[in-house]
Parts: sequence; C-alpha cells; structure tokens
Amino acid sequence: MSYCFEKIYIDGQWTDSANDKFIDIENPATLEHFARVPDGNFVDIDKAVRAAHRAYEKWSTTPLAQRTSIMRKMLSVLESYQDLIIDLEVKELGAPIEFTTKTHCLYQYTRIRSYIDCAEKLALQESLELSHVYREPIGVVGCITPWNYPLGQVIQKVIPAILMGNTVVLKPSQHTPLTCYLLVDAFERAGLPAGVLNLVTGRGAQVGDAIATHPLVDMVSFTGSTKVGIRLSQRALESVKRISLELGGKSPFIWLPSEDYSPAVKQLFDSIFLNSGQTCTALSRLLVPEKDLKAVEKLLLENVNAYTVGDPTDDANKLGPVSSKAQFEKIASYIRLGLEEGATLLTGEIPTDCSKGYYVKPTIFTNVKNDMRIAREEIFGPVLCVIPYKDVDEAISIANDTPYGLNAAVFGPKDEALAVAHRIRAGNVYVNNGPRDVTAPFGGYKQSGIGREGGYAGLLEFTQQKAIFDHCTF
Ligand code: NAD
Repeated sequence: MSYCFEKIYIDGQWTDSANDKFIDIENPATLEHFARVPDGNFVDIDKAVRAAHRAYEKWSTTPLAQRTSIMRKMLSVLESYQDLIIDLEVKELGAPIEFTTKTHCLYQYTRIRSYIDCAEKLALQESLELSHVYREPIGVVGCITPWNYPLGQVIQKVIPAILMGNTVVLKPSQHTPLTCYLLVDAFERAGLPAGVLNLVTGRGAQVGDAIATHPLVDMVSFTGSTKVGIRLSQRALESVKRISLELGGKSPFIWLPSEDYSPAVKQLFDSIFLNSGQTCTALSRLLVPEKDLKAVEKLLLENVNAYTVGDPTDDANKLGPVSSKAQFEKIASYIRLGLEEGATLLTGEIPTDCSKGYYVKPTIFTNVKNDMRIAREEIFGPVLCVIPYKDVDEAISIANDTPYGLNAAVFGPKDEALAVAHRIRAGNVYVNNGPRDVTAPFGGYKQSGIGREGGYAGLLEFTQQKAIFDHCTF
C-alpha cells in the first residue's frame, strides 16, 4: 500500500500538508495515541479543489460504464482490506469487533455494490413534450463527514458523487480519519484518474470552512451536527453552492398497546445502545402506553444486562467506549441534567472515571416528559428516554413534537402501525421488524437535513438537470 497517515492526497499524490502540525488519533478504549494525520489548512484545500476542478471535465465526460468498472475494481481492493478496516475502526472509534465487522465494514461493501447497481439502472435522461432533460454532474463536491460511522458516512457521499461524474475533495472527521486512507488507496489501485478524489484531513473550523467558501467548489455535502450544518450552509450560500445536509435526530419509537412488547426490545436496544448510542438514527425516545409503563420498565430491566460494556476487542462486550473525552463529558452532563429535570433513572449512572477508557453504561430514564431537555436534545450516547402516552393521537403528537425528523419506528398490529407511520414527520419509519433497504432514500425532515443519501435518490443528489429544447424545425 502506498498511503501514509501523515500525508494528504492531492492530484493523485500522497503529499505533505502546507501545515507542519498533526492531529493525534486516540484509541478511546486505551487512551493511546496510536496514529496522527496532518492538521491541514486552507492552502491544502485550495490545491485539492484546483486539482478536482482540473480533473472535472475529463471525468464528467467519462462514460458511466468506465466509471462503474473502476468502482467495481475499487470495491474488490477494499474488500481485500477487510481485516485492516476492522482493526482501524475498533481502534479509532472504539466499537466492538462484531458490530464493526457487520456495520462499519461489510455493510459498507453492500452500500457500494448497491450504488453501482443503481447507477447502471438509473435513467439519466427523459423526453418531455418539447425537450429532452438530462441529469448532469454538479462539479467539484466538498464532502465533510462526522466521526460516528467513519467509513460509512464517507461511502454515502464519495461513491455516488464519483459515479455520477463529479470530482471530490474529502474532509473526514479529525477524530476518525484513518479508514479513508484505505478507501483512497483502493481508488488509486483501481486506476481512478488523478484529481478525481482528493483527501485533506484537518479541523472543521479551518479545512471544513475553507471547503464551504472556496469559489471553485460547486456543492457541499455535509453530515454532522445541526449546529455546524446551519453555520456551514450559511457560509456556502454566500457563493450559492448546492447544499446537502444529513444532520441530527431525536427519533421516537412508538409502542402501540400490546399484550406483549418483548418482540420490540432488541430493535430498540440495538438502535439506542450499539455503537454506544452514537448513531444519528438512534431510537432515543420510547413512547409507551401509560397503563403499561410499569410492565415495560420491568421488561427493559430484564433485557438491558445483555448490553455489556467494556473492551471492544473482547467479543463478550456489546458496547465499547464512547468516542472521546468530550463525548464522555457531554453524555455525563446530560445524565446529570435528566436527574435535575426530575426524570427517574431506571438503570445506568453518571459516569465519572474515564482514566481507563471512555466507558458509559446503557442508561434508561423513565417518566420523561417530552419538554425536558433530555427528550429534546440529541445526547448522542447510550441514553434512552421512556415517555408515557395516554392514547395513540397523543403518541403521534409527542413523536412529532421535536425539531428533528430523521428516523422513527412503530411496533404494533401491522395495519395500525402503518397508519401511524404515515402520520410521523420523519424521513425514515420502520414498521415492526422491517429490514433496512439500502436502495431506499435516507435523510431527514425538519432540522434533520436537506437532501437524501442512499440508492437512486442518493445518486440523483449529485446531479443537476439540464433541459435542451431540440424540437427545432431547421
Ligand atoms: P460535527 O458537526 O461536529 O462535525 C462534522 C464534520 O464537520 C467534521 O468533519 C468536523 O470537522 C466538521 N466541522 C466542524 N465545524 C465546522 C465548521 N465550522 N465548518 C465546516 N466544517 C466543520 O459533528 P460530529 O460530532 O462529527 O458528528 C456527530 C453529529 O453528526 C450528530 O449530530 C449526528 O446526529 C450527526 N450525524 C448525522 C447523520 C445523518 O445521516 N443524518 C449521520 C451521522 C451523524
């Protein structure tokens, strides 16, 4: 392999950053600083954007069949890096091996395969009454990603952008940038032309902002917090760039009245506890009939002990540490806040000692009211809020009473659950144990975002329409 974590990748070359400083990458389970990447700056971004701009004309006119062929080769190289991807994700994020293998690695291969298949089937032109309409690439796309699904969030942007003929400048999270190096290396080995994909590591306020404001960047595709997304969009709109935003969530799970809630527990706990609750779609608000609250509390307590926390390299553990000291402190402060707001702590505790890793136990608050801050703000940790409701109309009203609208789930008799699903204001709704469809659009209503990723919609996001009026008479 030719990559080196201490370099950035511009115009097909691993090169030094213009800044001689580095960012240490910490293993949140051991607190060891085990790698470092350049703390890039606006000079690096300028070079990367210019390289992407130069490469655009040729790449955008390269036939789709050639682009998909390079993508398939890239995927096969990336598949050969499986052990390394898993090792790096366990170290840089702290997710346990089993979850990392399934979600952070194998699922990402599935996504890439799906994008290629969808690209081959996608209609990129249509005939209207007096015109033909073409889907064309947008240009240079700046991709800015968060740390919680380090490779996944990058795949969701870089793969469809490149397949659709755009060129890319990628800025991964400064906390978890390492697997991007493997992706770039795989692209290089697959023969991606120089300049089509460029990688600049660094901090948001410098590198991210430089992408958002560079005059030659045509689109910014951002995944991260709503706060940063708004700020970044304001900056990008100063030069009217296309914007795509995947932001935060506070997703509800409505349990309709039932004799037996146990079939829904695994879905709930996997969503809110795995990846240590650091998932944008985490079902963090459980809405249960008031009359069944005690029975539900008992059920949750009976099952929560299976979600063991500890060393992510030990297969016995389902949760590793949270990703950083800042995360640890933020989650601890929310658990403290929940107690101050008068919620009842059913299980869990305020974590205090992080001298041997940033571990937080699964925490469940019950008797939560939807106007409490723990029910309104994204905690981004393994903290569940149980909120009682009187009737189904009230459940839907509580579910929708949030600034977010990313994800939701409903458990109950299928027809009733479907009727509720249609009334929830969120981009994705799971009914009972319906599996995720990788070809379906993913994205948020309200302050959870603008635009869609995944499958056909995710490819179209990186295109713009051109109408040609060619029904001429001479
Ligand atoms: P964040 O907003 O702090 O950072 C995201 C990215 O933006 C990072 O690369 C960061 O360096 C960069 N950045 C920070 N400040 C910037 C600025 N001023 N200008 C430009 N770029 C800047 O988010 P995070 O803590 O890395 O990730 C957690 C957040 O991401 C959560 O809110 C979560 O819900 C959200 N998220 C959303 C989705 C989704 O698909 N909707 C998926 C994963 C995570």
